[in-house]
Amino acid sequence: MDDCIFCRIIKKEIPKEFIYESDNLVVFPDINPSADIHFLIIPKKHIKGIGDLTDSDGLLLSEVYKTVDKLVTDNNLNDKLYRVMVNGGKAQHVPHLHFHLLGGNWKKFV
Ligand code: 5GP
Ligand code: ZN
Repeated sequence: MDDCIFCRIIKKEIPKEFIYESDNLVVFPDINPSADIHFLIIPKKHIKGIGDLTDSDGLLLSEVYKTVDKLVTDNNLNDKLYRVMVNGGKAQHVPHLHFHLLGGNWKKFV
């Protein structure tokens, strides 16, 4: 999607250092963090939101949570507080499905 900020970042039209990248997703820090650790896990495929997922996205969702687990381990979050969040409806500001990983001390509501 040409006018989607996350698609433009994924296509490297907007420079961004990725923490992790696979064929199916990218991870980078949120520009406006709500916790000590605030990463965005973003499928490369432009899926607007939860309501647009289909059965064929099952493996993608599995990869998202496996990636979360790797990030949790890499950032020593297993013994600390962490949460995975997906915003929807009016709480979602970027209409490209993404998962927030928040860890450590919480600063504000996402
Ligand atoms: P939403 O409210 O849609 O769940 O969250 C969108 C998130 O994307 C927000 O936390 C916001 O700070 C983050 N964000 C929006 N634009 C950019 C950007 O250009 N770069 C980065 N790193 N984060 C962004
Ligand atoms: Zn997009």
